[in-house]
Amino acid sequence: MNKTDVSGFSKDELLQYLASLSEKTGLKIEKFRAGQIYSWLVKGVSDFDEMTNVPSRIREALKEDAYIALPKVKAKLVSKIDGTIKYLFELYDGECIESVFMRYEHGNTVCISTQVGCRMGCTFCASTLGGLVRNLTPSEMLGQVIAVEKDTGERVSNIVMMGIGEPLDNYDNTLRFLKLVNDPEGLNIGQRHISLSTCGLCDKIRKLADENLQITLSVSLHAPSQDLRAHLMPVARKFDIDELISSCRYYIEKTGRRISFEYSMIHGENDTPECAAALRDILKGMLCHVNLIPLNDVRERSYVKSSKEAIEKFSSVLEKAHITVTVRRRLGSDINASCGQLRRDSIKEEA
Ligand code: SAH
Repeated sequence: MNKTDVSGFSKDELLQYLASLSEKTGLKIEKFRAGQIYSWLVKGVSDFDEMTNVPSRIREALKEDAYIALPKVKAKLVSKIDGTIKYLFELYDGECIESVFMRYEHGNTVCISTQVGCRMGCTFCASTLGGLVRNLTPSEMLGQVIAVEKDTGERVSNIVMMGIGEPLDNYDNTLRFLKLVNDPEGLNIGQRHISLSTCGLCDKIRKLADENLQITLSVSLHAPSQDLRAHLMPVARKFDIDELISSCRYYIEKTGRRISFEYSMIHGENDTPECAAALRDILKGMLCHVNLIPLNDVRERSYVKSSKEAIEKFSSVLEKAHITVTVRRRLGSDINASCGQLRRDSIKEEA
């Protein structure tokens, strides 16, 4: 397909594109059309014909030359418990991804995917089971937020990049997305309202630190020692835990921002008192926060989640050392809102 994706443009880029379209077609396209088209895209139109204040001759030229990469809702599960909505979105080429809409007191949050599949291979995660298919474009990341706002009719104020995929394995598109989503004439979501989660690509953590962004970095640690971490997460064989902690220290030093360490609690694997003590020793004195996540069951995996008691004991070891800890509340437990599973079901149905 040689058409241009207009939904990934900033307003200035759209202006430039329209100028080139005007030149190519000989059609007069006034400058203010860029603003009109841009605001339609932010509202989530999926067809140029919905842009009712744009003359049909321009809409026809756009249809010939361009497309809108807005994800289509393919399936949707709504939690009866807390209203969390899990979306299965279909992309322009038929690939599917997931996003989750959650209502918190501090505002509506969308968890977005950054890749179709994932190649990181974490042993407890559903998203990685079929490997990586492709990267998402910036417009496909943005489009998830726009499509959720359109479907719910509600404004989204926070974004977490914790869906399918490894955002730092798709670095350039992720960075471009972070700029686009910030645009006051676009979605206007500030960096302080965005969290990015990584499994620990140390070179990219350092690169990100140098970008001078205000986003919250979450790091999936899941183990306090190199051996255990490498057993759970193949990425640790490339970047060991000492290197990871040192790149996290660099990030904190450069940005002055607290890192959030994610730690999924897996029964008998990483939830022992010894693990808690080792984690405490690594993180003591660091500007950080620990988020304990009771493991979500994944059908294809044999791991079991930790007991409530084990999680409480673990968390009290950290608290005694003045490390702030929260246990993630599980929203959408009745719709299996954890990532990767809906997409896998859709692949299996088609097979
Ligand atoms: N690739 C990124 C973001 C995706 S996953 C990363 O690795 O951080 C978001 C979080 O969910 C990560 O901390 C991930 O390790 C965790 N996770 C994956 N599968 C899980 C499961 N079955 N139960 C609990 N947490 C899980």
